Amino acid sequence: MKALCWHGKGDVRYDTVPDPKIEDGRDAIIKVTACAICGSDLHLYDGYMPTMESGDVLGHETMGEVVEVGSANAKLKVGDRVVIPFNIACGECFFCKKQLYSLCDRSNPNAAAAAKLMGHSPAGLFGYSHLLGGYAGGQAEYLRVPYADVGSIVVPDGIPDEQVLFLSDIFPTGYMAAENADIQPGDTVAVWGCGPVAQFAIQSAWMLGAGRVIAIDNIPERLAMAESHGKAETINFDDADVYDRLMEMTGGRGPDSCIDAVGTEAHTGGAIGSVLDKVKAAAYLATDRPSVLREIIMCCRKGGTISVPGVYIGVVDKLPFGAFMNKALTMRTGQTHTHRYLAPLLQKVQSGEIDPSFVITHRAGLEQGPELYEAFRDKKDGCIKVVMTPNG
Ligand code: NAD
Ligand code: ZN
Repeated sequence: MKALCWHGKGDVRYDTVPDPKIEDGRDAIIKVTACAICGSDLHLYDGYMPTMESGDVLGHETMGEVVEVGSANAKLKVGDRVVIPFNIACGECFFCKKQLYSLCDRSNPNAAAAAKLMGHSPAGLFGYSHLLGGYAGGQAEYLRVPYADVGSIVVPDGIPDEQVLFLSDIFPTGYMAAENADIQPGDTVAVWGCGPVAQFAIQSAWMLGAGRVIAIDNIPERLAMAESHGKAETINFDDADVYDRLMEMTGGRGPDSCIDAVGTEAHTGGAIGSVLDKVKAAAYLATDRPSVLREIIMCCRKGGTISVPGVYIGVVDKLPFGAFMNKALTMRTGQTHTHRYLAPLLQKVQSGEIDPSFVITHRAGLEQGPELYEAFRDKKDGCIKVVMTPNG
């Protein structure tokens, strides 16, 4: 089959690879009808995530049609249309029973290596390094779905792929980010980033009762989307000091909740801290660039809540933990417990409360993947979200 494969920093290729096979009774194989490129894929593309190997199949936002079902899988049948969450979860371990699916104890075969770095291993992820399981991803014509009896939602015919594909990741991720922000009715919520995850965090903040949403980025079309679709007020960090502007907008108090939808590859227009972070990351003195996290700790109102859906990988430097402690802030984070949100968010799509396809700017066949990775990374050609149709 054809698939998008990682071959090193900035090097994604449209390759021929072996077809996936059923390896366990609970597996299913799907023929992929739509898949997307995520901001998390950029951490692989830009070489930040360790333990990638040349030839690894990328992709973790995927849906398709079931073409084969393992003998122990009673949930799915051939022909079902399914969306696949980006994390792999057994459904039975201590963590899955608590619905903490992104922390599944059984889905990462390389858990020992991950535990060395983090103390414990999170769940395995599709197409996201050997440290997180070494699973082939879904930017491919076919995908093997382990624990497919837990990790899939059957979607009805008649609802286009583009409206349900993002249940695999960015819609639940934005929603959990808003839940983690502990929004009380009427609260002011500030969202760093106006990428796809941020766009869904903005939508979800309103659903959960925000009174005001302020979004921060420096890419004009992303800010425009946050204003038009997200009904957010915006700050372009090239034009204003974010702290000063937020204090002006909130009477000096700061936003009640702050969401970091940027993560480890933050840039702040050449600010000294950001340049130092890049130098340190290049010299392996620190692995991440936490300029947004620093800014958020300074901006959040005293006693407020910080929610971090943005991905961090290793060690961060110069986090103002004294401010965090003395301002009595709370921080919640995590890879999304995607499985938890599949049914309730599908319901919101079906009822017409939201049409997640608003975020899509680029549609193409899988063979155009290598150029689209570049366009998405460089924010070229107005690129906000790419959807590819491998068997289209
Ligand atoms: P993206 O790269 O398209 O968006 C990031 C946005 O942040 C860009 O628009 C960029 O211009 C902006 N930005 C950079 N520096 C900034 C700064 N200093 N202040 C404000 N904005 C800044 O990515 P995305 O797909 O929207 O994903 C965002 C983050 O969420 C990534 O780190 C991704 O890995 C993470 N993510 C996490 C989960 C999860 O389960 N927690 C799931 C999906 C994605
Ligand atoms: Zn993703």
